[in-house]
Amino acid sequence: MSKPTKYVYEFAEGSRTMAALLGGKGAGLAEMTGLGLPVPPGFTVTTEACKVYLATGQEPPELGVEAAHALAGLERAMGRTLGAPEDPLLVSVRSGARFSMPGMMETILDIGLNDESVTGLAKASGQERAAWDSYRRLVQMFGRTVMGVDGDLFEAAIAAHRARRGAATDHELDTGELVLLTEEFKDIVRKETGEDFPQDPAEQLARAIRAVFDSWNGERARVYRRREHIPDDLGTAVNIQAMVFGNLGDDSGTGVAFTRDPATGERGMYGDYLPDAQGEDVVAGVRDALPLSELKALDPRAYVELGDHLRTLEAHYRDLCDVEFTVERGRLWILQTRVGKRTAEAAFRIAHDLREEGTVTADEALTRVSGAELTRLMFPRFDVKATDQPLAHGVPASPGAAVGAVVFDSAEAVRRAAAGEPTVLVRRETTPDDLPGMIAAQAVLTSRGGKTSHAAVVARGMGKVCVCDAEELTVDPAARRFTTSTGTVVREGDTVSVDGTAGTVHLGALPLTASDVGRALERGTGTGALTEAVLGALAHADSVRRLEVRANADTPEDAVRARALGAQGIGLCRTEHMFLGERRALVEAMILARDDTARAQALAALLPLQRTDFTGILQAMDGLPVTIRLIDPPLHEFLPDRTELAVRLAGATHPDLHDRQLLDAVERMHEQNPMLGLRGVRLGLAVPGLMAMQVRAIAEAVVGRLRAGGQPHAEIMIPLVGTVEELRLARAETERVLAEVAAETGTPLDLPIGTMIELPRAALTAARIAKAADFFSFGTNDLTQTTWGLSRDDAEASFFPLYLEKGIFETSPFETIDQEGVGRLVQFAVTAAREVDPHLETGVCGEHGGDPQSIHFFHRAGLDYVSCSPFRLPAARLEAGRAAIADTTDTSDTR
Ligand code: ADP
Ligand code: MG
Ligand code: MG
Repeated sequence: MSKPTKYVYEFAEGSRTMAALLGGKGAGLAEMTGLGLPVPPGFTVTTEACKVYLATGQEPPELGVEAAHALAGLERAMGRTLGAPEDPLLVSVRSGARFSMPGMMETILDIGLNDESVTGLAKASGQERAAWDSYRRLVQMFGRTVMGVDGDLFEAAIAAHRARRGAATDHELDTGELVLLTEEFKDIVRKETGEDFPQDPAEQLARAIRAVFDSWNGERARVYRRREHIPDDLGTAVNIQAMVFGNLGDDSGTGVAFTRDPATGERGMYGDYLPDAQGEDVVAGVRDALPLSELKALDPRAYVELGDHLRTLEAHYRDLCDVEFTVERGRLWILQTRVGKRTAEAAFRIAHDLREEGTVTADEALTRVSGAELTRLMFPRFDVKATDQPLAHGVPASPGAAVGAVVFDSAEAVRRAAAGEPTVLVRRETTPDDLPGMIAAQAVLTSRGGKTSHAAVVARGMGKVCVCDAEELTVDPAARRFTTSTGTVVREGDTVSVDGTAGTVHLGALPLTASDVGRALERGTGTGALTEAVLGALAHADSVRRLEVRANADTPEDAVRARALGAQGIGLCRTEHMFLGERRALVEAMILARDDTARAQALAALLPLQRTDFTGILQAMDGLPVTIRLIDPPLHEFLPDRTELAVRLAGATHPDLHDRQLLDAVERMHEQNPMLGLRGVRLGLAVPGLMAMQVRAIAEAVVGRLRAGGQPHAEIMIPLVGTVEELRLARAETERVLAEVAAETGTPLDLPIGTMIELPRAALTAARIAKAADFFSFGTNDLTQTTWGLSRDDAEASFFPLYLEKGIFETSPFETIDQEGVGRLVQFAVTAAREVDPHLETGVCGEHGGDPQSIHFFHRAGLDYVSCSPFRLPAARLEAGRAAIADTTDTSDTR
């Protein structure tokens, strides 16, 4: 028989490698226990137990026995008994899943208090007020999370007591008031549930554990998981831990500390401290916390010890760590640690510093940053003039620049986001219930709470702009407005600009300008800690990556910019953009031509224009490959709109002959389904002279560049091929024109001729197509459309949101390559083609070429390059480097 499953682990039995079973928090507590840090003892109920409960509705039968056994051990270790009338042991029951979900699930403190043990606690601690404060918190938390009582009822009762006493905070309520409040809370529980608050400590414990299990499927947790792409079937672990008390007077307190600043990456310990407080007071931002540095004066010993532990943890985890800690009468306890969330800026700086300090290798440093973070740093920032007076200043909790309409609740943010309107969610402070609104909004602004408040932590995790603790603002959600210290009133719907880097809010939309990082990337150099960190990471990525990175660029200006941003060539130069603007008239003339002579004339007029375009691009990319795709869209896309023409004709007294002919042409060329119609190579084969003109323009541009002493490397790409026959014909025509120009100019022209693979049939017959192609470029946009049988624009306008919501798509297949379907076609085609021609060059020129996850896939599929929009190049270079490292070490965290 196999070993029976073990559902309960003491902290001393676990380790950091067991996060899947013990959850992140449990694994962290176990690891710290092993390191000898002062962790209140306890045990962890595994995620496996949770999974059994979620699947069957019942705890596994062994759990009760194992938990009772572990509790007995804890009681022995502490020399106290859970909820005993004299000097009771109290425990916290804390959720903790595999991946950190801050504030998303339940934690219940002070389990074990009841009408008797509250007196025992008061006597043992000598703190009557603290004992009653803890008891009323337990009834409140237990009532809300375990028994399902509306939390507002408790809040209203507290508010009434505060008002009666003229107290500004709960802190000012005395023992007598708290005793009354506890009774009122118990009455609320009885009235709302028809049941008394349970006095039996064992029952409290068992029900609290079950409530934590249930919270895995709570609304908030589900929303968070969907956003963070955390699977729904992991379940949560539950940690049962001896309580320590931060609310025993001035020599006690509770706080949060980081080994470095999680917003900027600056070295040195960093955090918040709240004297004489328990539990979630710091995170909830209910009372203003002190900067951690003030603990130094309040309790130098605890401060120094905390610093030691932070250093131990950072050296051990070799990364930024954060901890939750409590000081109980001068004694320091560490309650939680994890590798801390950080802003994009901090991610780059910390990785860079850890590498310089010799803590991590260059490869590891690269795994600690991502292309998405780099993109965020390239976002523009506000161009603030000295005369722009902010409405208010707050804590710069999560950097970036955001402009949006002010909204005062989560639902409104969600409503407006659905209508495509950018918003700024303004709250006094946020709670986990605000999560949907925080996701929907561009920025979050609060008037209370510090850098470690809920708003700040969650916004940072999402990379969302956040300014908090803007005390000059009086926020009135009921009246849907806020007022500044100078009396300016801002109402729902008014536009504000939130500067999460400076920590300011401005009325109206401020102009934007390039970020320092963006500028430095274009120049290739720059100073400042952040810029150096970014350039360092990119340089290392460039040195390790196998994938080349090219740009999709259609103009000389784009080509210059792409080259500055690190493009190693152009993977896709679209020629149809060259038919727009004033040149439309020439295209119209070509389409309307009645005979070959007229058509030849129109084409001849287009030739020099195209040649000039190609010359400019080849010059900008001198020495690097430029893949030029022959015209792809249906020709009627270059004609005026049918209705517009019809209206114009109907309104004219003397109908214009040209318009008349155009309308005829439009009607003749109309297609039911242009995406699948006369386009791509079909067009080149069907319209005499069109392909020849384009090839000639390319060839003459190459000759011109050679004569000017340049090194042009043009490659000719035939789009939308479905069978090798199409490519053979197109290739013959292309070679004929190349030979013609070569003979005319006396310049040998040996340009590579390749094709796009963007139809499933092309992928499936890749071995045959490879015989006629010098290279393949996967057009993954069209390949996705044709594989799924849907048109992107139509789908996105209709059923896409539904598919995403129903989880049919986890992400859009147009953003991230669908590995199982489209990806398999790519992989199959590469493998098949390489058997025919091992040196066939392969690349990707769809938008997927700039998507981090897709880049990792293309690396594994063995492609030679990815090609993407110029602004995505730096992120693509970085991710190509990360993909190469992941390949050899498999240490990358793709989350
Ligand atoms: P979250 O996952 O939301 O951070 P936690 O389980 O960490 O929730 O609990 C929130 C807070 O409750 C902690 O920051 C800590 O201050 C307090 N807490 C939890 N367990 C204990 C304990 N055993 N003793 C004292 N305070 C505790
Ligand atoms: Mg915590
Ligand atoms: Mg295409």
